[in-house]
Amino acid sequence: MAWGGRKFDAIVIGGDHNGLAAAACLGRASLRVLLLEAGDRLGGAAVTAEILPEYEASTMAHLVEALPRRIERHLKLSKHGLRHAARDLPTVALDRDGGHLVLPRNRKDVAALAGTRPADAAAWRVFDARMKAHVALIAPLLFDDTASIQPALRRLVWRAEWRAAGTLADLLHLLPQSIGDLLDAEFEYPLLKGALALDAVLGSVDGPYAPGTMLRYLHRLALRGLGRGYSIPAGGLGAVTDALAAAVAAQRGEIRTGARVSRLLVEGGAIAGVETADGTAIIAPLVVSSLGRRATMLDLLGAAHIETAQVRRLPATAPAGSVAKVNLALDGLPDFRGLSSVLCGARLLIAPSLDDVDRAATLCAQRDIAAEPVMEITIPSIADPALAPAGHHVMSVLLPFMPHDIEGGWPARSEAVLQSVIRTIAQYAPDFADRVIAGDLLTPPDIEAKSGIPGGGLGPAERPCLHAGAARQATPVPGLWLCGPGSHPGDGATGLAGCSAAAAIVAERRAR
Ligand SMILES: Cc1cc2nc3c(=O)[nH]c(=O)nc-3n(C[C@H](O)[C@H](O)[C@H](O)COP(=O)(O)OP(=O)(O)OC[C@H]3O[C@@H](n4cnc5c(N)ncnc54)[C@H](O)[C@@H]3O)c2cc1C
Repeated sequence: MAWGGRKFDAIVIGGDHNGLAAAACLGRASLRVLLLEAGDRLGGAAVTAEILPEYEASTMAHLVEALPRRIERHLKLSKHGLRHAARDLPTVALDRDGGHLVLPRNRKDVAALAGTRPADAAAWRVFDARMKAHVALIAPLLFDDTASIQPALRRLVWRAEWRAAGTLADLLHLLPQSIGDLLDAEFEYPLLKGALALDAVLGSVDGPYAPGTMLRYLHRLALRGLGRGYSIPAGGLGAVTDALAAAVAAQRGEIRTGARVSRLLVEGGAIAGVETADGTAIIAPLVVSSLGRRATMLDLLGAAHIETAQVRRLPATAPAGSVAKVNLALDGLPDFRGLSSVLCGARLLIAPSLDDVDRAATLCAQRDIAAEPVMEITIPSIADPALAPAGHHVMSVLLPFMPHDIEGGWPARSEAVLQSVIRTIAQYAPDFADRVIAGDLLTPPDIEAKSGIPGGGLGPAERPCLHAGAARQATPVPGLWLCGPGSHPGDGATGLAGCSAAAAIVAERRAR
């Protein structure tokens, strides 16, 4: 049946940035699209909300790390209201004594590092050149939407042959390794090693010594290179969601919130539409799901429609959450010891050493939390003063390695965790506790409830994937496609998985 008198060529499940990006791209390809979002608002983890009257924050995802310029242009996001309050933010590894480290992005930063740590600065030059060579090899795979992996690998080998001999061998040698082992081999400076390790594993449940974390690190570097580094959108992450929703509307796509899809309809072995929780059947020959692979294939489609071998290949369990979020209203800018007011607006990391990051991961696996958690901090109101009253600020703290099922239960522990975050930051900014007007901790179960993300974070089931052919956006059921964080090219508020699935769908339709 058509819905509201309209017929649709495609239904997109999930109103997060990937679902919205897929809907907008399919609309641009002249498909009539209906997007169904279970919650009462769009965005998934990319939302802006009031944390106190007059104080607004990106309550879950807080930094645009890799929204590709190509997607911004293709979907005309600036015309639809997206503006970046700050672009290409530096990352600063905070030091308790004020000897902060700006992660080098240019010669000036390397020279600053050389001033105190000449051996590490020399090692950085080699490390940086090595990582850049590998990113140059793999980044094109992230935009390659061909379903067959062989031609993509062939192109990768050609690219490698153009570069210095041995680059491909070095890449293949590195990919299965742990970032921790590489950092131990290359660097001495604990602050540098801690920051790089946190960068590599942020958002995952793997510690820095887990095999394959090098792949995660390179994947992140490659994704980041597609955008303009870390940016803070004016109006918070919800502004990205709003711009994507406007792009869908501009293509005459229809968006429904409060519309949970409860099952996929199949006829003659092919997708025929969806049924929503209120029992409405909506017919369309194409369904694109931004949910995880397991949720789509088992919960919505049902094992009866897939072969046993394919069921076995699905991720074993829903991903378990590993991030929590603290949002704070402040009555002024905290005085971080030795940090200039300009760098206060940077991406700030508290990860004093590789051991601290490793310990956080180990404790998380034991359902516990370090007394001084590692964290990623932003103060978005520095670049975007409209988020707080004049002279006041909002601070956003992402806490990795937070177990979903914490020992003793979150209700009993959340206040102590919030206080440990405030205490930890106060070691770097002594006036910090006095600046806090209000604060709130979103635990992984809270994030799950608010964002609709199973487990409240990204877990072991949703690994980075480098190529569409390896990440199976198409499913064994004709007409059913995946565009969520488990499909090419993986997680992050990038919209890439959505656009990439849409491109693959359009290519397949053209081929037919
Ligand atoms: C706390 C937190 C902080 C993060 N911080 C950052 C960050 O700073 N930068 C960054 O780049 N990334 C960040 N991420 C990661 C980023 O937000 C994720 O990569 C992204 O959320 C992954 O998922 P997605 O957008 O594809 O879908 P999801 O966010 O998982 O959204 C799925 C959507 O589908 C809806 N839905 C679920 N079931 C149904 C159904 N049956 N029918 C209809 N709709 C349904 C949900 O309500 C939800 O809107 C963060 C994630 C979390 C949880």
